[in-house]
Amino acid sequence: MPRNRLPAVWTVLSLVILFCDAAAQAPAPSRGAMGPLPRVHFLATGGTISNRAGGRLTAEDLVKLIPPLETYAQPEFEQFSNVASSALTLDQYLKLARRINELFEQDKTLAGVVITSGTDTMEELAYFLHLTVRDFRPVVVVGAMRNASTIGYEGPANLLEGFRVAASRAAAGNGVMVVLNDEINSAREVTKTDALRLHTFQSRIYGVLGVVDADRVSFYRAPVKRHTAKSEFDVKKIETLPRVDVIMVYQDASGDLITAAAANGARGIVVAGAGAGATTSSQREAINAVAQKGVVVVMGTRTGSGRIAPGTDQAPSGGERRRNTVAAEDLAPVKARILLMLALAKTHDLAEIQRMFSEY
Ligand code: ASP
Repeated sequence: MPRNRLPAVWTVLSLVILFCDAAAQAPAPSRGAMGPLPRVHFLATGGTISNRAGGRLTAEDLVKLIPPLETYAQPEFEQFSNVASSALTLDQYLKLARRINELFEQDKTLAGVVITSGTDTMEELAYFLHLTVRDFRPVVVVGAMRNASTIGYEGPANLLEGFRVAASRAAAGNGVMVVLNDEINSAREVTKTDALRLHTFQSRIYGVLGVVDADRVSFYRAPVKRHTAKSEFDVKKIETLPRVDVIMVYQDASGDLITAAAANGARGIVVAGAGAGATTSSQREAINAVAQKGVVVVMGTRTGSGRIAPGTDQAPSGGERRRNTVAAEDLAPVKARILLMLALAKTHDLAEIQRMFSEY
């Protein structure tokens, strides 16, 4: 290219980058200015956001609580269930993932999906959907810490923000997000850190993906691990999920619970290890015994963050610790369980399962 054309090329490139950035961070379009508002499908599953003295709020009731919604999106609503998050079964998880995939497959103009859930196990539902929804469009999980009969009920604020994120073009490609308290977290990293406080959802060392403010939805980073549209897990092909249990390491813990889990039908066990994956010797013996019978054991950490590396360990006993097991990488034990259930629905090959733990 002739040298004198370079400045012109740079100018055009800068304008394109500026335009893309502005479009991604733009406030929600207003009706009339840019055609019809984005359509967002809302699935309500229950949780504190629906709790009220005298009976639970329905999806329709919840939408009525947020009149400003009509500035941002056209809602469609559906009652999937109306229970606490801990009461949802794994069969309902599969059904919900299939329903979202069906919505996206059948409706190419749908902008995104919002789901309300109880907050207790929300991070598990969100990560399950992050691995099983096969579309690039945003899926946002929302809840509340205070119920609708409480002063300071923040359900409507969180739900409106969830709709705004699902309607936002900038959210596409980020997989499943958890939106509460004005913050957007990735399903993979978010965890409930406090039993009662409003700021309970944190992505710990990684931080938020973005924030929701009065003027706009802003993103600062994007998830880099495989998820949603790039996931290999197909819930159409999974009838039921195999049993996987989570067992914690603590001082002088017996291996009996590991043995019992396997005897009761667990096809996989996630061990929430001490530090970088330590167990007691009784647990180590039990792990070796169940692994020989074909139970897949994944080593994680109970510390709340940090990575368990495949096949290596800094401790002198590391080789022994890693034998027969898959490393959870930086997944929290409850999320490692979700990934292990999906992995076991496809394969029992340890190397293949380790690949999945390194990629997702
Ligand atoms: N018990 C509720 C649940 O998880 C808690 C909540 O929604 O905040 O369903």
